[in-house]
Amino acid sequence: MLNRHHQPLLAGALAVVGGIASQWLVDASPRVMWMLSWLPWLLLPVAWLDSRVYRLNKNSLMVLICLLSYGVIQLRLQAPLSNPDIELQYWVLGIVTPLLLFLADLWPESERFRFSHGAALLAVIVGGLEWGVIVHGEPLHLWLNQWVTVIGGYPQPWVLTLWTALLLGLSMLLHYRRRQGGDSLILPSLVAVLFSLACFDVPAMSATIYTALGGVCLFLLAQHSYNLAFCDQLTQVRNRRSLEASLQRMGQRGIVAMMDIDHFKAFNDRFGHDVGDDVLRLVAQQLETVGHGGKVFRYGGEEFTIIFRSLNRHACIEALEEVRQSIAQYPFMIRGQEEGSPQRITLSIGMAQWRQGAETSEQVIKRADEALYQAKQSGRNCIRVDQPPKRPQRRRAA
Ligand code: GH3
Ligand code: MG
Ligand code: MG
Repeated sequence: MLNRHHQPLLAGALAVVGGIASQWLVDASPRVMWMLSWLPWLLLPVAWLDSRVYRLNKNSLMVLICLLSYGVIQLRLQAPLSNPDIELQYWVLGIVTPLLLFLADLWPESERFRFSHGAALLAVIVGGLEWGVIVHGEPLHLWLNQWVTVIGGYPQPWVLTLWTALLLGLSMLLHYRRRQGGDSLILPSLVAVLFSLACFDVPAMSATIYTALGGVCLFLLAQHSYNLAFCDQLTQVRNRRSLEASLQRMGQRGIVAMMDIDHFKAFNDRFGHDVGDDVLRLVAQQLETVGHGGKVFRYGGEEFTIIFRSLNRHACIEALEEVRQSIAQYPFMIRGQEEGSPQRITLSIGMAQWRQGAETSEQVIKRADEALYQAKQSGRNCIRVDQPPKRPQRRRAA
């Protein structure tokens, strides 16, 4: 499942692709380059459509910005930077694209991206180019040439690379300050822009890096749909569908524990549903720390399941006992009542071991549920274990 560290990792992988491509593309055949130049036209629109379908508004906006930027590079900037017109357009593109991406990252996810926003974006990029080249072409060019004489060379690639790197650094900071956002495209798309600007003179660099970006977008979208299918959206642990798939894969061996938060209805009634949701998140977070290789699932409502591949009953009971105690001792502060005394939350747990080859997953869950019922009957906040599996009896020889 995606977590916060995946996005920087994907951006790093894109940077490695860019680094290798900058060496490899120098000797690539024209046919390969031609093919590469078409791939972003295929991948980025598919990624854009997919992001729209999944209502990932920020991502769809970022993909659109990258697609427009790639279009400008392909349709207007296919000449050396020594050409003054190209130089100015390159400047405008290099300033505007990373800035738009950075602003798109600040865009509220709840705000839908509309056709009018797309038209405004197109106007900013194309209008910016026209404004730079046609209206202010001469004075801007003179000003740039001053730089050339001061620095003793064309400053664009490193100035614009620095500018993009600065926005990349800021986005990285923002990314780590947020709690969620594992499937956002901001870091990979800024890395792609960075390479397309820094290696402007390397043939087909923009095509390669935007193709790789298209691949990253599609990978993230595949991960996103996987999360929607197998991850519980409230607690971010695996969901019931994932539990069924895991139980099938276990091959009728292992240990299953069912757990249920005690008196949760009363808690909900007293503090409200939102605080109840906070409790569910917290319990899921604590359960994830369970040892001995336990996998946590939300079974439904305020019930969770942990499965162990291990057959060591004692080790599993110890791991469950540890997590039960850590939850019972956790001082839970109610939102908006931070000065008040902390609330305690407890769990009852029932555990059962698979009777190998003799039981379906429904049957072992049912036995774990019965053990859970016994835990509730015994006063809650405790673990009860179903009978250990009996060894098959050997038939005595007559
Ligand atoms: P017991 O100790 O016997 O388990 O008592 P209980 O109150 O925990 O059990 P009961 O089944 O009566 O109540 C479960 C409650 O869980 C009722 C329901 O409102 C609450 N619940 C189920 N799903 C959610 C959820 O997603 N969010 C919140 N906030 N509450 C939920
Ligand atoms: Mg219940
Ligand atoms: Mg309960």
